[in-house]
Amino acid sequence: MINFTIGPVQSSKEIRRIGGEQVPYFRTQEFSNLMLENEKLIKKFMDATEESKVAFITGSGTASMEATIMNLLTKEDKALIVNGGGFGHRFVELCELYEVPCDQIILDVGQPLTEEILNKYNPSDYSTFIVNVHETTTGVHYDLKLIHDFCKRNSLFLIVDAISSFLADELSMKDDGIDVVITGSQKALACPPGISIITLSEKAVERVYQNNPKCLYLNLKEALENAKRGQTPFTPAVSILRQINARLKQIDNAGGTASEVKRISALAKYFRESIKDLPFEYVTNSPSNAITALSPLNASANDIFLELKDNYGIWICPNGGELKDKVFRVGHIGDLTNEDYDKLIEAFKDLQKKGLI
Ligand SMILES: *Cc1c(COP(=O)(O)O)cnc(C)c1O
Repeated sequence: MINFTIGPVQSSKEIRRIGGEQVPYFRTQEFSNLMLENEKLIKKFMDATEESKVAFITGSGTASMEATIMNLLTKEDKALIVNGGGFGHRFVELCELYEVPCDQIILDVGQPLTEEILNKYNPSDYSTFIVNVHETTTGVHYDLKLIHDFCKRNSLFLIVDAISSFLADELSMKDDGIDVVITGSQKALACPPGISIITLSEKAVERVYQNNPKCLYLNLKEALENAKRGQTPFTPAVSILRQINARLKQIDNAGGTASEVKRISALAKYFRESIKDLPFEYVTNSPSNAITALSPLNASANDIFLELKDNYGIWICPNGGELKDKVFRVGHIGDLTNEDYDKLIEAFKDLQKKGLI
């Protein structure tokens, strides 16, 4: 199978090799050193300040979304949440669950956030702004500069879910005034699922120490205390953390985030240029480099997903719910090449010949 989904994505041979090794004991100086190196490189790639801290959570991205809401916000906060799809909606659910007052900016499928929309809200009504910078359900990428300008007006605490955007689109915690960035192992980091990563600014670290959330496993105070010596409170997904270490070093040696963003955006561009004559429409005019979301003009999106899976050895990413038949997504993250896209285009053309798209 060739995997063009949005995660888990294809890992390189080197990363898979590490996954096949025995899991080493982890309460050792050697593993601590690896974790401290992971923290250093994550901070570098997030363009975080020296004082920032990183928590590695064993759990998928949603675990870190939940940990962030639980540990950083309280009933005294008021959050403004961009809700442009399934992942924006998840933050609304989490705020409701933890009784954090919130308002939503509800956007249509693929609709970008504009200054005009933001201006309908008054920053002084809020303490916090929450956004999934890439709303993966529709492929739309929101403008962090615009959000930063809005947040600056009342020093809003800015939480960014960059789970599917980190390493695919540019992001700078310093320049974009971000307090918390969440990412995960199975998207552009191209490792197996199981680890999510929360990078916290100095202000965010202070908040963690001030709050007393009712939780044990996802308590970030414990995570940060342990992280000082390169450890985690509980047994982490050791193998994945070793794979992440190899992957981070690989990216660093190849020129860091700038070159990784460039590599992924080149794949996106190659694919988008190749589909010009196919009967698909773009879902958004403000896409992330991580995926291309498409609406087929004459066929069900889910049928195309099934055809490619069952008859061509290809996974694209289907959508759920209301978008099931309307939208499919093609990922550009993971260990992919132009030749892989050539095979996908060939399959699309074959489906067209058969009258299936
Ligand atoms: C993948 C993803 C998540 C996390 O989903 P999990 O299934 O919990 O890993 C969260 N937010 C966005 C924007 C994502 O793309």
